Amino acid sequence: MASVESQTELRIIREPKVYLIGRQVVDEEALAAFLSDHDVSHWTTDTEVAGEKLIETAGRVCYMSFQRPRPGGNRAYIGHLLEVGHGSVLEHAVFNLLITGVSRSLTHELVRHRAGFGFSQLSQRFVDESKCSFVEPEVIAANPELHRIWLDTMRASQVAYRELADLLMETFKDIPDRTSRRKKAREAARSVLPNATETEIFVTANARALRHFIEMRGDAAADVEIRRLAIAVFRLLHEEAPNLFGDYTLIDLPEGGQAVTTPHRKV
Ligand SMILES: Cc1cc2nc3c(=O)[nH]c(=O)nc-3n(C[C@H](O)[C@H](O)[C@H](O)COP(=O)(O)OP(=O)(O)OC[C@H]3O[C@@H](n4cnc5c(N)ncnc54)[C@H](O)[C@@H]3O)c2cc1C
Repeated sequence: MASVESQTELRIIREPKVYLIGRQVVDEEALAAFLSDHDVSHWTTDTEVAGEKLIETAGRVCYMSFQRPRPGGNRAYIGHLLEVGHGSVLEHAVFNLLITGVSRSLTHELVRHRAGFGFSQLSQRFVDESKCSFVEPEVIAANPELHRIWLDTMRASQVAYRELADLLMETFKDIPDRTSRRKKAREAARSVLPNATETEIFVTANARALRHFIEMRGDAAADVEIRRLAIAVFRLLHEEAPNLFGDYTLIDLPEGGQAVTTPHRKV
């Protein structure tokens, strides 16, 4: 949700947005060639999700167990990996997410997830932030007095950013290259932008890393904004790959909002 406060056109965001923009494909011809080269006449599984099929293929390579699959299909196969904690096999499924409508404080927490994640984030050195949006915590938005204090602060910082950026462009006027001039001005001016400044981040991660993220950040103890993101990521991935993310359940918290739980913590 984005709203615009009319007085100074301050754009306010209160909900993250997650786009699943990339997923894997299986090269069936290459897989069939591998199976044939290894005297496997026929192997098939019951998922149409490439990431899930790749995980099962990788897992079956470990024991060359293509010939006599146990009943239960891909769901049971991945369920067993979760049960016994063979998390490394889950690293073969990879998803590309584009996340918008989140604050710089959220992405500061997000990029702490090191293993199995790749990040590309909007640069405040290259991109002009004079019309940036701000992410308002729900608890502040719900209270007129808190909202007023917050709004005044966002406006003041945006005004300061614009003034500083203009004055710094003047300071660096002797730098001939326009891009370098702007970069130097913006990297200094951004120091007055708050944690609430909206940002956009492209995230590529494998299923094991995403599960860990959902568990850590979907937990009741996590920050409210990143917990909402973790739940949005979970919902998207659950729809995309139910055998990989189907063991999670959402619970309602007494203080409002939801959290994620699973019997398979950290594979
Ligand atoms: C509720 C909450 C509160 C938090 N509070 C704070 C805070 O106050 N201050 C703060 O700084 N951070 C805080 N964090 C961040 C937290 O400490 C982690 O940095 C973050 O959650 C990423 O977790 P991770 O290291 O397990 O993930 P990843 O970096 O993705 O690593 C995944 C797993 O890989 C393994 N691993 C990764 N790197 C190594 C390594 N170098 N050596 C050995 N094993 C490795 C570990 O098993 C790790 O769990 C908080 C997180 C949460 C969820």
